[in-house]
Amino acid sequence: KPRIFSGIQPSADSLHIGNYIGAIQQWKGMQDDFDAIFCIVDLHAITVPQDPKGLREATRTLAVQYIAAGIDPERSTMFVQSQVPGHAQLAWVLNSITGFGEASRMTQFKDKSARQGADAASVGLFTYPILMAADILLYDTELVPVGDDQKQHVELARDLAQRFNSRFGDTFVVPKPRIQQETARIYDLQTPTGKMSKSAATDAGIVWMLDEPTAVAKKIRSAVTDTGREVRFDRGEKPGVSNLLAILSAMRGTTIESLEAEYEGRGYGDFKRDVADAVVAEFAPIRERTIELQADPAEVDRILARSAERANELATAKIATVHERVGLYPSL
Ligand code: ATP
Ligand code: MG
Repeated sequence: KPRIFSGIQPSADSLHIGNYIGAIQQWKGMQDDFDAIFCIVDLHAITVPQDPKGLREATRTLAVQYIAAGIDPERSTMFVQSQVPGHAQLAWVLNSITGFGEASRMTQFKDKSARQGADAASVGLFTYPILMAADILLYDTELVPVGDDQKQHVELARDLAQRFNSRFGDTFVVPKPRIQQETARIYDLQTPTGKMSKSAATDAGIVWMLDEPTAVAKKIRSAVTDTGREVRFDRGEKPGVSNLLAILSAMRGTTIESLEAEYEGRGYGDFKRDVADAVVAEFAPIRERTIELQADPAEVDRILARSAERANELATAKIATVHERVGLYPSL
């Protein structure tokens, strides 16, 4: 089976609906046909300030949310990045073959560092895409299912794989991105021109998967829409309505066109109520299952350790080859 790799940062206490539609929903459907590795990328999370205790809890909660949302640890490998040292080891080697100008072109750094102020941003945040390349290349990944915000980073992983291979001999599989369709990008409900992000400054426009059903419904009902009354998909003219259409389409598994037809001549009120109902229907059982699983943290840690062991075997072998190729001393 072809290998896929993807990950999410434990950078908040819960996943949001963008992570669900852009990542988890896609992953879920790929578990049978692919050798799937789903990582909880805590090394990425510390590139911005995190509270240590909060981070450890968020990491376990994220694992629980993977399982509750349908990732099956029996079929897929799901583990915590920092439990496998190969990620940081390979990142160092890749750092050394990445150009400074090349790294400077990554737009996520520009966005995230602008939010923090250029001087406050860490060097880790700057080299984040190189760690992500290491995550992917470490496991001979063929396909990387991600949202379109990560496209540029997967491109970099491809470039680095090709560069390493031509400089040191064939070592890495050159991965391909699998970018979700345009409607899989979810925007902030209060600022529907900006991506919904775990690390956003305010969370009024974020639907967390662990929000109580009443809170979910309220956030959706108060989503920003424009002054017209037509329910029509048009990101330029109607970003708020388009975002809600994208959400409803993902929840129901129907096309945008059929939804536009369904809501023709009906107002925003009906439409928003239906979006809220659909999201609550999807998330309420996942939330309950999450709370159930959280009651047994030791079991969660055992599941993660089992997967980390398998990942570590693959990673250790790859690191040995990489070190050998670049002329580092053999490991003891
Ligand atoms: P952070 O703000 O900490 O970067 P994030 O919400 O961007 O958090 P990530 O952990 O960076 O989440 O990304 C995990 C996965 O979720 C990636 O595959 C990414 O493409 C996808 N993703 C993130 N935000 C969205 C979104 N708004 N819509 C669709 N997919 C998203
Ligand atoms: Mg992100």
